[in-house]
Amino acid sequence: MSAFRTLDDLAPKGKRVLLRVDLNVPMENGKVSDATPHRARRADHSRTRRQGREGDPARPFRSPQGRAGREANSLKPVAAAVAGIIGQPVGFAGDCIGEVAAQAIAKMQDGDVLLLENTRFHKGEEKNDPAIVEGLALGDVYVNDAFSAAHRAHASTEGVAKKLPAYAGRAMQQELEALDAALGNPKKPVVAIVGGAKVSSKLDLLGNLVKKVDMLIIGGGMANTFLFAQGKDVGKSLCEKDLADTARAILAAAKEAKCEIVLPVDAVVAKEFKAHAPSRVVPVDRIGADEMMLDIGPRSVVEIETLLDVAKTLVWNGPFGAFELAPFDAGTAAVAKAAARRVKAGRLLAVGGGGDTVSALNQAGAADDFTYISTAGGAFLEWMEGKALPGVEALRA
Ligand code: AMP
Repeated sequence: MSAFRTLDDLAPKGKRVLLRVDLNVPMENGKVSDATPHRARRADHSRTRRQGREGDPARPFRSPQGRAGREANSLKPVAAAVAGIIGQPVGFAGDCIGEVAAQAIAKMQDGDVLLLENTRFHKGEEKNDPAIVEGLALGDVYVNDAFSAAHRAHASTEGVAKKLPAYAGRAMQQELEALDAALGNPKKPVVAIVGGAKVSSKLDLLGNLVKKVDMLIIGGGMANTFLFAQGKDVGKSLCEKDLADTARAILAAAKEAKCEIVLPVDAVVAKEFKAHAPSRVVPVDRIGADEMMLDIGPRSVVEIETLLDVAKTLVWNGPFGAFELAPFDAGTAAVAKAAARRVKAGRLLAVGGGGDTVSALNQAGAADDFTYISTAGGAFLEWMEGKALPGVEALRA
């Protein structure tokens, strides 16, 4: 039995289903300008809808979109885009609560889909205001398919889930199952890769991971802070020198928890932070005073590949280098491909997530072969930090 109530526990026939989705798509001149960034997520939402259709319920959709500007953030144009994707008409109600919503819902027939206006047009949404929760509780049951918003205790994520019988949609379920397989109940050894710019933005994440994983591979700009904390000269590299003590404390906590910390042994260094800047490969204790480390070197890649050979589970957030600038994407791309090969061979379960990580893994052409890629950004990071996500907690069985 799942730890969460899912659509398997719901008999939707004849019920009005209030479905919380994330339809946060870019808009230009009142039209959805690009419906592709969240394709994977939307595909899963439509799976949730299809599931619902078997019982032919009427389904009001709900999704927030951005904060400012009523017209710019209206979901009206999104209704047409959703209709195109799910292949059936989608109605629209100009408010998600009150008379406007109630009247539109009252007119729905079994099988109809109605998109309710942006919940963030009401200030009480983000404050989890009981009056908004009351207003939103327009369905017989509530299905949350928006993991990306589940770290927020908002009226449409947590509040209404406590008010109505609440279930995880298929996209939410898939995400929860993938995350559980990666860190909740993973096959060991578990390897985590944490890269990206700064230690300071990932302190909680590092603190949680050292307690949970067998090996923690640190890359990106944040590796420089750790190397500096170990007494190495990192030249002009991005480095938070004031966090040297913090880095040493993380290393000590890892030792205590028997988590092996893996830092780069070599680096691709350049004198300028720009694409195709002249570069060279050096051991990490030979970085020149006027050089900066912009990627991990080939020896580090080989070492990481060897670790991936013994790993059964990989969880990844953050690139190994300045992957937006060729050729400093090479380390990230090589490790991403190595992980993808092992997933394809059935030897590794690999989950990646967090904004830049998704771009980096996509750029490497490896994302499709990962076991799961989370596009949830903040919610994914809070989950990696070991925090309880209110929108998820409210769905517990
Ligand atoms: P984050 O959002 O913390 O995952 O950081 C991602 C950013 O880290 C990307 O924009 C990368 O360009 C940057 N980054 C990764 N490695 C380095 C590095 N060695 N030096 C400077 N920036 C880096």
